Amino acid sequence: MSESRLFSFEFSAPKTEEAAEKLKTVHGKLAELSPHFFSVTYGAGGSTKDGTKQTVLDLTTTGSVVAPHLSFGGDKPELIEALLKEYQAAGVTRLVALRGDRPSGIGGTMRMTHANELVTFIREHTGDHFHIDVAAYPEIHPESTSVESEIQYFKMKVDAGADSAITQYFYNADAYFRFLDLCEQAGIDIPIVPGIMPITNYKGIVRFSDLCGAEIPRWIEKHLQSYEDDPETLKAFGAEVVTRLCERLLEGGAPGLHFYTLNQSVPTLKIWNNLGL
Ligand code: FAD
Repeated sequence: MSESRLFSFEFSAPKTEEAAEKLKTVHGKLAELSPHFFSVTYGAGGSTKDGTKQTVLDLTTTGSVVAPHLSFGGDKPELIEALLKEYQAAGVTRLVALRGDRPSGIGGTMRMTHANELVTFIREHTGDHFHIDVAAYPEIHPESTSVESEIQYFKMKVDAGADSAITQYFYNADAYFRFLDLCEQAGIDIPIVPGIMPITNYKGIVRFSDLCGAEIPRWIEKHLQSYEDDPETLKAFGAEVVTRLCERLLEGGAPGLHFYTLNQSVPTLKIWNNLGL
């Protein structure tokens, strides 16, 4: 471990064998940085459920700590309980507990089980075995009706037994620090690790940010737009902007950084090296 701060890397569950092979190489490169853990996303609709489990089990055998993301989705409690036991038996010690997003193509009738209920369920069935991370939204979750309710529901996840949190990505450090202040006022004292999204393209990041409620400051978007046909300049600009953000976060007391790696090693390594970690 490079230091006591919490550094972690997130992968998306690969959907093809070729992608799974490529991910093993990426994992190998990032494992050299000795992060606290890797995490692997979960498609609550079933698209990547098996891929998540397989990836977690494969990477766990390399000696890395690997945390599966988990949601109820439309699954019966027995199925989730069986999955928890399987992870426990395989030596998995961390989980990221989420409500998850409704998979595209699935109608609106399925009740989405909130993350606090999943945390309660995990604690009921596996006690203190897992370190549980939950999601936090410094720029406020798109479905939230107010800042107050955002904090109130976040606190419910913590009170249910979450050990730490990872934020949605953002490019405005003030949103994160304000969120920390509000959490402190509400008596929330778990580590809240900022999620860091490297910038490697223009249209993709704009589209994705619209969906998940992350704001791209106008000046950043205008630069990305200008460099759209010049990928090298765009990536260099993106790495510089995100490095400065990480510096500010760490200097301001963030307990670590969680990188959304996009299943690539280069963008994360670039920021890591810039930071001199
Ligand atoms: P919740 O905490 O349940 O919150 C969802 C909304 O409901 C919020 O507006 C909240 O204020 C409100 N709310 C919360 N609890 C209650 C309650 N008890 N009653 C009423 N309202 C409530 N998505 C995936 O599909 N797969 C992944 O692997 C994945 N990984 C992620 C990892 C991180 C670090 C983050 C930040 C997000 C991830 N997401 C993933 C996206 C996430 O699933 C979505 O943001 C989802 O819309 C909300 O999930 P949540 O766990 O934050 O939900």
